[in-house]
Amino acid sequence: MIGIGVSSGIGMGKALVKKEPVIKIEKKFIAEPEKEISKLEAAREKGKEQIEALYQHAFSTIGKAEAGIFRAHRMILEDPEFFGQIENKIKEESVNTEWAISEVTKFFVDMFEAMEDEYMKERAADIKDVTGRLIRIVLDVEETDLSNLSGEVIIVAEDLTPSDTAQMDRNKVIGFITEIGGKTAHSAIMARTMEIPAVVGLEKALELISDGDYVILDGDTGTVIVNPEEKVIAEYERKKEAFIGFKEKLEEVRGKDSITKDNFKVEISANIGTPKDVDGVLNNDGEGVGLYRTEFLYMDREKLPTEDEQFEAYKEVAVRLEGKPVVIRTLDIGGDKELPYLQLPKEMNPFLGYRAIRLCLDRTDIFRTQLKALLRASAFGNIKIMFPMISAIEELRQAKSILDNVKIELRNENIEFNENIEVGIMIEIPAAAVMSDLFAKEVDFFSIGTNDLIQYTTAVDRGNGKIAYLYNEFHPALLRLIKTVIDNGHKEGIWVGMCGEVAGNPQLIPVLVGMGLDEFSMSASSMLRARWIVNNLIKSDMEDIIEEMLKLPTAEEVKDFIVKKISLN
Ligand code: PEP
Ligand code: MG
Repeated sequence: MIGIGVSSGIGMGKALVKKEPVIKIEKKFIAEPEKEISKLEAAREKGKEQIEALYQHAFSTIGKAEAGIFRAHRMILEDPEFFGQIENKIKEESVNTEWAISEVTKFFVDMFEAMEDEYMKERAADIKDVTGRLIRIVLDVEETDLSNLSGEVIIVAEDLTPSDTAQMDRNKVIGFITEIGGKTAHSAIMARTMEIPAVVGLEKALELISDGDYVILDGDTGTVIVNPEEKVIAEYERKKEAFIGFKEKLEEVRGKDSITKDNFKVEISANIGTPKDVDGVLNNDGEGVGLYRTEFLYMDREKLPTEDEQFEAYKEVAVRLEGKPVVIRTLDIGGDKELPYLQLPKEMNPFLGYRAIRLCLDRTDIFRTQLKALLRASAFGNIKIMFPMISAIEELRQAKSILDNVKIELRNENIEFNENIEVGIMIEIPAAAVMSDLFAKEVDFFSIGTNDLIQYTTAVDRGNGKIAYLYNEFHPALLRLIKTVIDNGHKEGIWVGMCGEVAGNPQLIPVLVGMGLDEFSMSASSMLRARWIVNNLIKSDMEDIIEEMLKLPTAEEVKDFIVKKISLN
């Protein structure tokens, strides 16, 4: 079976299938309602304990923002009105606890789901989640607890939500397979952050794999093998060892510059989502942070983060990076990343809609707060500001003018910030790539966002599995655009980086070096491999093959050409 390999490495071991338990709730008449009410109270207490444990685990292993979801769950357990209704039902109708919980849940869920407001709709999902937990406790049904595993497992699930990954025990989960998702899905990004081999988008995985099956997964090729023969196991043992051996070899480049044999020096940095991810950046010898996706600060919570909360998060990253560059992207919400509390209207085409810089230029209150926090934090390290989803020069000028206004405000308040802070844009919309000659005159740097640039150039939804075969990083149109952007940036003397997933692609790194890309930003776990590749290249050799490669008509030919022409040893 082949899915999409999204996080390197070989995982081999027993499958743990995460199926939602089928629970039948029957209505029963009971003689002693008081007993049922004590059951409810006991379940409520146990639920609180479980949720608190999940919160603590998520907080200490991933970060405060991700842990926030469990705070919202706890609030439901503390809601007197909700529990008052359940108690009344038990008392007045003499019914069993689980029945009363499920009836009252239905009532609230229907009510919330019928509301127009996205935020309220989301609350319905939270209520179901929490009461599902309560019912499992009352009925003593075991759920798949990902935080407390007895041995090493490969998790097989339909999808893994942020709360699933938040509670995962990184030492026991040696791989995961999901039915849904693509390279840039939440689960995929988390797998790379946690350095767990993973395959996503494997259709029917839940049907084809059973609990306890022996599974092999190859996070590079997307291959999944269930209950293989001994000789296949032996073959993958060798591959796994080679992978580990390669990882050890990568240690040779730790502490070294990222520089080709003919002295072309680049910077290899990391993409992060929360201050917690800085551990991974430092452990993998990152030269900076090339993309800090600030939207995670805004997610899984009830309202916008304050200026101070943001300041603390940005400052923490800047301080821990000790002067190394930290590129912080302003809020990139919308598309697949929703913020229910902003109550944004439903759109026909969210990826082409009211999102990212478009939203920020409209909701200048949100934008100004973030810029103020960013500027304040810039006094503590080497912060650079980056605007996402820029499609027209006017947007950039407006954003810069708001930034200038905020700077004036800070000066008036005598608050320190870096007066020379660099300002750049993401090049992730073809219009910006085509006009990069003009954009380059108005910014300090570019960072190419290939995840979206592929999507918008080829009109292929990056999260749609059905057309995933069209989402191709070797597409000649993409490579031509990248070359244009790098050349145009360099003509104006600015540096050009890349923070889309292509930057960490081992087959494309040589090509990007040949094109002269200055900075490569990727999952922290891919950085040493990228440096090893760069350090084994001769840039002038790569330059020689780029022209020929850019004449090729298909992605497949481009890929074959790269395989044939570039070998590293
Ligand atoms: C991109 O689009 O390439 C990118 C890095 O941003 P995101 O994946 O957050 O959209
Ligand atoms: Mg993007």
